[in-house]
Amino acid sequence: MSKSGLGNAFKRIADFIGKDVKAQNESKKLIVVIRLILISVIIYFSINGLFCIPKWNLIAILFYGVFFAVFAGLFAISYFCKSLVTLWMFNAGMIVWICSIVHFYGWNIGVQHFIMVLLVLYFFSSYKQYAGKVLYAVFLCALRIILFYIYHYKESLWPLSSVQENALQIINTITIFWCISVIAFIFSNDSQEFESKLVEYNSQLEKQANTDALTGLYNRRKALEYVRHLMDNQTGYMGFSLCICDIDFFKKVNDEYGHDFGDEVLKSISRILMEEMDERNFVARWGGEEFLLLFPECNGDDAFIKLEDIRRRIKEMKIRKDDVEIGVTMTFGLAEYDFNNDLTAILKEADEKLYQGKEQGRDKIIF
Ligand code: GH3
Ligand code: MG
Ligand code: MG
Repeated sequence: MSKSGLGNAFKRIADFIGKDVKAQNESKKLIVVIRLILISVIIYFSINGLFCIPKWNLIAILFYGVFFAVFAGLFAISYFCKSLVTLWMFNAGMIVWICSIVHFYGWNIGVQHFIMVLLVLYFFSSYKQYAGKVLYAVFLCALRIILFYIYHYKESLWPLSSVQENALQIINTITIFWCISVIAFIFSNDSQEFESKLVEYNSQLEKQANTDALTGLYNRRKALEYVRHLMDNQTGYMGFSLCICDIDFFKKVNDEYGHDFGDEVLKSISRILMEEMDERNFVARWGGEEFLLLFPECNGDDAFIKLEDIRRRIKEMKIRKDDVEIGVTMTFGLAEYDFNNDLTAILKEADEKLYQGKEQGRDKIIF
């Protein structure tokens, strides 16, 4: 078979095993795990049979034949039945298998360890149902203890040679390790994937909650949080400076050129503010056409110089849309945090200075 032919065959098998369950509200992972375990167990029955069917013992051949057919049937059923129904039938089948093998071949071939596969599979197969899980664990534990007491010292009905016993110990061990690894791998992957998706989703939600949709700047909520953070974490001698700025005659822009054009103006100004405010500083959209700028560890005089650059850049900016091109100006109210004024006071001071700037003819920084 060519390489791509082999690849195709693998893909077909994977698709077949991974085919979804009928019921829409069921986990696909569970049925895939059950199918993989069923295939593993069917292969295991066949190999097991080759090693330990006593010579021409018709009962033994029939016994293996029945198990092979029942589990193959279960595999087929997994495409039509609910996963949990298949899971329970698998559990029942395996318990009968374990008890029968221990009964016929004795304790020494290690088939009783399959109980661990059932336990792990059941614990991973459902979310919650704690009482059910505990009960099933107690049942399986009791079953193992009972089997131990009945069969540990008992002669087996179909005695095996030590070579056969050793071979079966190894086959059982490999199959059990394989089954538990498959179950743990698929389900742990699932939970890790889920966890990282959740972390990503949470950070997306947090970002959305803190961001203004139109401009991409932080919003008022985040700005308030950040001012409070600055006030609570003042260590140095220097406080911070806070500025509220507002676009001049913005209503006129909207009225004359339309709301969409107004939005373009808001976005262009936001871009400039983002460029001018480096990572030490902070900018947010405070409200409609108002922005809040924060300068940590920066006195009012230094902040004033920075604001002067911003004011000039905004004034020189031309905003174009289709064949319309306009310029706007902004007015700035600047206040300094001196370790005494509280949040309300500093915001009020910046707001009042902004108002003074508007009164005095706009396009100004008032400090
Ligand atoms: P002033 O110089 O005194 O600030 O005058 P102004 O016209 O800018 O002030 P006013 O408060 O009268 O108008 C603000 C306008 O901003 C009114 C409102 O429609 C507009 N606005 C608020 N948010 C948005 C927005 O998200 N997009 C657009 N396009 N306009 C907005
Ligand atoms: Mg305005
Ligand atoms: Mg305003």
